[in-house]
Amino acid sequence: NPILEIENLHAEIDGKQILNGLTLSVAAGEVHAIMGPNGAGKSTLAYVLGGRPGYEVTQGSVRFAGQDLLALDPHERAASGLFLGFQYPVEIPGVSNVQFLREALNAQRKYRDEEPLSGGEFLKLAKEKAGLLKLDMEMLKRNVNVGFSGGEKKRAEMVQMGILDPKFAVLDETDSGLDIDALRIVGEGINAIMRAPDKGVLLITHYQRLLDVVKPDKVSVLAAGRIVQTGGPELALRLENEGYDAVMAEA
Ligand code: ADP
Ligand code: MG
Ligand code: MG
Repeated sequence: NPILEIENLHAEIDGKQILNGLTLSVAAGEVHAIMGPNGAGKSTLAYVLGGRPGYEVTQGSVRFAGQDLLALDPHERAASGLFLGFQYPVEIPGVSNVQFLREALNAQRKYRDEEPLSGGEFLKLAKEKAGLLKLDMEMLKRNVNVGFSGGEKKRAEMVQMGILDPKFAVLDETDSGLDIDALRIVGEGINAIMRAPDKGVLLITHYQRLLDVVKPDKVSVLAAGRIVQTGGPELALRLENEGYDAVMAEA
């Protein structure tokens, strides 16, 4: 039973076609890694799934947890359980992480007709997730990402993911800029938050080192706007050893 089902997706930016017949399905319980050369359309896929303005779908469909994802606006997608993690998290001066996260969570709960969490309930939840990511609660009291190091931004983003507890996460180069210890903490955080029989992950990465921690069930290669090859974890190892050109030429 797929949790995310992408069929023949075509999408363009400024009239330039980037996704070009992309078909991909992620079953519940799976981590599906996406690898591929620079400029292949990996980040574009993440933005299209998130519903970012300017990314126009011209053909194809995306079903998410039984819904037509493309018919939902970005907030509805998030409230339905879709989480996007980006390579370059934004800074929000004047808004603390705690404020930002509590508002985001309560907006999603409201959409689902659930009661908002009180300040106390929220802080308890935030402490638990910050502990998971080994991020000091003091960091969460500071303005969103302002003055955070690359590793702190990524860990704060994973705390956000833990608090929102999504059904599905699309993580775009979450490992970029992380040192070895931060990489392990972030990878183990992804496992703790997202490894569940009713959840799924699309993990976009260039490197095996993240996949050593977050072991993928499937690995696909995205090139020129479509999926050109899918295999098991061994495909990532071959790509790292042999390079995209060699592996794709053989396929
Ligand atoms: P990847 O994440 O796989 O490296 P991207 O999805 O970022 O690739 O980019 C795919 C292609 O889309 C590239 O050729 C890139 O130059 C182009 N592209 C990305 N963003 C824009 C944009 N805002 N306007 C025009 N072209 C873009
Ligand atoms: Mg890139
Ligand atoms: Mg990218």
